Amino acid sequence: MKHLLRIFLPLFAILLPTAIAAHEVEQSDWSIAIHGGAGTIARESMTPEREAAYNAALQGALDAGAAVLAEGGTAEDAVIAAITLLEDDPLFNAGRGAVLTWEGRVSLDSSLMLGHDLSAGAAAGVSNVRHPILLAQEVMRDGRHVLLSGEGAEIFAADRGLEQVEEEWFITPRRLESLERFRANAIATLEDDEHRYGTVGAVARDTHGNLAAGTSTGGMTGKRWGRIGDSPLIGAGTYADNRACAVSATGTGEYFIRASVARAICDLMRLSGMGPQEAADNLMTEVLELGGTGGVIVVSNMGQTAFSFNTSGMYRGRADSTGVNEVAIYGD
Ligand code: ASP
Repeated sequence: MKHLLRIFLPLFAILLPTAIAAHEVEQSDWSIAIHGGAGTIARESMTPEREAAYNAALQGALDAGAAVLAEGGTAEDAVIAAITLLEDDPLFNAGRGAVLTWEGRVSLDSSLMLGHDLSAGAAAGVSNVRHPILLAQEVMRDGRHVLLSGEGAEIFAADRGLEQVEEEWFITPRRLESLERFRANAIATLEDDEHRYGTVGAVARDTHGNLAAGTSTGGMTGKRWGRIGDSPLIGAGTYADNRACAVSATGTGEYFIRASVARAICDLMRLSGMGPQEAADNLMTEVLELGGTGGVIVVSNMGQTAFSFNTSGMYRGRADSTGVNEVAIYGD
């Protein structure tokens, strides 16, 4: 053994400086991507005011997350900063402005995952926690469980001192109208995107090389029987693994669950060597083949970002340490 070390150590001494230098450059990078839901977003049906409002909201959330990362903050904090803003914005189907259940109730789902130790937390079916993503974070920090639901999750949130609001606080006229239309037409197909626009999510890589992913949603208009989608399910709607990537998904949750979308993208990258775009496109094709629509945002452990969606649009944005800073809505 000693003999071998004597031969190999000088070799390492030559190779090491290059390896460390390359590593340092990589670790100085930060990157963030966000989404505000995917669906049939037609230019014709969007007013200039509405488009400007979406762009401004996306830009605000992107800037908040980017500022955390640019100052050397963690990917976790960046994801939380972006998502809490989007949860408060009634334009999006998360927190205030969430879509309503068949009974006209609010039922919010969220999840958060960190790539360095695969720690994760999630909540499903809560209706009085102002920021469901903070509840997911508390579940993760507590560490005993990964997913809490309903009343129990709310008791936990109260114990943890999270801000609580009346259910009515979340409800907006726009979502009431959507529910009325949904009930009147008995539109029951999962594919009717009008009924699930606006789930929010963020993925980030920080200057320490760590990844985080988070997702928050009201689910789908008119959902019944305690239905829960992919958003609070680790591996389906959210996943982060420092060995590969961080992913947040949006779309018809049933298909994303069946394809284990978020985890599968990370596995494709890690095990087959695909880049984030190719891996994401592969999974979105699989979702489409199953009959589902939607999209994903991905950040790789090298800080590359990718968007992939099989709908005509996805509210989205990305920024990184090389100066990229953009928000977009449509597919073309
Ligand atoms: N994935 C969400 C759900 O199925 C909805 C969406 O992202 O549009 O609950």
